[in-house]
Amino acid sequence: MLDVTNPSVVDTITFEGHSFYLKRDDLLHPDFSGNKARKLHYFLENDFPDISKIVSYGSAQSNAMYSLSVLAKMRGWEFEYTVDHVADYLLENPHGNYKGALDNGMRLRQAQPPFPELVEGNKNILFIEEGGRQKEAEYGIKILAEEIINWQKENNIDTLNIFLPSGTGTTALFLQKYLPDNTVYTNPCVGDAVYLKKQFFELEEDENYHPSIISLDKKHHFGKLYRENYKIWLKLQQQTGVVFDLLYDPLGWRTLLAHPEVLSKPILYIHQGGVLGNESMLPRYERKYKKEELENENILQ
Ligand SMILES: *Cc1c(COP(=O)(O)O)cnc(C)c1O
Repeated sequence: MLDVTNPSVVDTITFEGHSFYLKRDDLLHPDFSGNKARKLHYFLENDFPDISKIVSYGSAQSNAMYSLSVLAKMRGWEFEYTVDHVADYLLENPHGNYKGALDNGMRLRQAQPPFPELVEGNKNILFIEEGGRQKEAEYGIKILAEEIINWQKENNIDTLNIFLPSGTGTTALFLQKYLPDNTVYTNPCVGDAVYLKKQFFELEEDENYHPSIISLDKKHHFGKLYRENYKIWLKLQQQTGVVFDLLYDPLGWRTLLAHPEVLSKPILYIHQGGVLGNESMLPRYERKYKKEELENENILQ
């Protein structure tokens, strides 16, 4: 179980000449993707006497899928997960989140959502939306906000800019709600700013509680390989010694650095984990781009 009396640590790092505080939610729990540990915290702490099975769906490599398999294992529940497709390469060489989830007992189904036959009227099933996008995530994200407030008090930091990259936007939204004195900035990694705004409205009608969205001009496709993403990921490792995830953080850092107005205050970057997913992304990057060539482009400049 998560130890809520033991907040994740905050490091200080320097990247590209700027100083950042880094909230190490990636170190929160060895078996969870950091961000999903927060979002699923509610389901670890409360009693669910009728539940015997988790049902969810999404991609075969998702951090949420892996974290749900951990939750199910901890609670002694079954876990059934639906994907519309598994790549042949992954089937033949299971690795990363996919392998981790199968090792934890996940049962995989191939179909198209929704699956009303499984969920409707079945009180033994806990249905989790793709990416853990649901109300109950508020519980664990509120605890994250409280950790940040306590840390600010201890360090006499009045106001902060907080940054984290978004998928569904659930984490950023609830963080802003419980940190009204700070500004939470986020960028869309899945879809564009319009999509992200829509996600915010689904969870919170009052726009005053919404985080501030920043983005890059260029269109970006989630899960696709970009030279600039690989480059900044390598740079981050070289300059800070911290391993970030390869799906969200590279675009997040690129977006943040392109918005100097956000950097004008002390800034706290939330490291949301997801590093197990690098097992599938990194070999793809290494096949496509030669690390040495990127390094020769004065990566340390
Ligand atoms: C799931 C995830 C996100 C996105 O979180 P949302 O609450 O869906 O916005 C970001 N980073 C990592 C590493 C994640 O696993």
